[in-house]
Amino acid sequence: MTDTIFALSSGKPPAGIAVIRISGSQSFEIYRLFTGCDAESVASRTAHLRLLTHPATGEALDRGLVLLFPGPNSVTGEDLVEWHCHGGQAVVRAVLDALAEQARERHDLRLREAQPGEFTRRAFENGRIDLNEAEGLADLLTAETETQRRSAMMMAEGHFSRRLADWRATSLECSARMESLLDFSDEDDVPGEGAERALRTDIRRLAEAMAAQLALSSAERLQDGIRVVLAGPPNAGKSTLLNALVGRDAAIVSDIAGTTRDRIEVPVNIGDIAFVLTDTAGLAGETEDAIERIGINRAQAAIDACDILLWLGDPAQCPRADGIRVSAQMDRSGWVEAAAADITLSALTGENMGALRDMLIARATDLIPGDSEYALHRRQRDAVADMVAALQDAAAEADLLVAAEHLRLARSAMDRLIGRSGIEDMLDSLFSRFCIGK
Ligand code: GDP
Repeated sequence: MTDTIFALSSGKPPAGIAVIRISGSQSFEIYRLFTGCDAESVASRTAHLRLLTHPATGEALDRGLVLLFPGPNSVTGEDLVEWHCHGGQAVVRAVLDALAEQARERHDLRLREAQPGEFTRRAFENGRIDLNEAEGLADLLTAETETQRRSAMMMAEGHFSRRLADWRATSLECSARMESLLDFSDEDDVPGEGAERALRTDIRRLAEAMAAQLALSSAERLQDGIRVVLAGPPNAGKSTLLNALVGRDAAIVSDIAGTTRDRIEVPVNIGDIAFVLTDTAGLAGETEDAIERIGINRAQAAIDACDILLWLGDPAQCPRADGIRVSAQMDRSGWVEAAAADITLSALTGENMGALRDMLIARATDLIPGDSEYALHRRQRDAVADMVAALQDAAAEADLLVAAEHLRLARSAMDRLIGRSGIEDMLDSLFSRFCIGK
């Protein structure tokens, strides 16, 4: 018998309502202890107003709504009880303390407080959700922008899981066709090269469909933000532009060259997309200052690794072909527009700042999943990459027996992704991302 677990599932009190959840085979017994009613006597999935009393002292703890969800059709797959109490600190404390006391005193109960993410872990272990849906749920709980919410929702609702199921079915079908080719090859009654060629084409197509998923944005980028680097020579106005984009003084502005000696990273939402802006040390050609030199080297590394480069130097010197070449400080007297700039603006007066924001949003939109797409985590991307590699090997392998083995390897990568095998290590780290009560 697994432990019955309880926790506050709603936010930190005080709040209007607090939801306390109890899940496990003894949860209906706990319900009886606190309400004096048998679970059998009340309709499931229906809210009932009940007085909760302390089982040992009989003291009234709170009056609230109670719902019973019998397993296996509950969210955890187990018998589940929800108490909707008043959300005051003392009320919540009194109910949780009474539960903890029952857990300590009553040796016939296997009751304890839930670990972070344990309700969701049970849902996973009882087959109510697969690993990808659990991951989507974790993302949904931490989503801060609309794009993050949409992607996480798609994942939590099982869109990727359904695609995986389709891929798995296709790969099984390919394996069956491979087996029949192998059977025929034993019998010297070869069913023509056409069947084998068609099979190889189908395997390659499946690999291509999967590879297309890898071209989508990663969940990490969606969550951590699109990396934008502001670079250019000292005094080009990088720090001023960064401050204007984030709407506060995040970077030091001064007209002493080399003020920004190291990278400054500032997260900001623009158009409901998460960005991380990095202000780099000015790329002065030569410097005597060793620390400034390190800053410049780091700036170069940031330029190479970023998603979008805002280049504030001479457009002809822009270090990346896809960089946005900004001609800044257009309000200055005697300012001359740099030839071939993509945008001219003044961070000081705000002129054309809206256009720059629009440019950033347009670039970012190409890097994040569209409305009906979702982003994959590193674990998922790695497994999809393994699947693609195994399928490509299967399609290219001349020996059908070895090719069949590659197909099997592709499927075992899929099973890892769904959470059917070899995933114990990552389960702990995934479920620890959840809060207690989820
Ligand atoms: P960085 O070294 O590239 O980060 O340049 P800063 O942002 O520190 O700017 C260098 C100097 O130029 C500071 O004195 C800023 O006040 C000034 N500056 C930056 N942007 C503008 C602008 O758009 N208009 C004007 N008039 N001055 C600016």
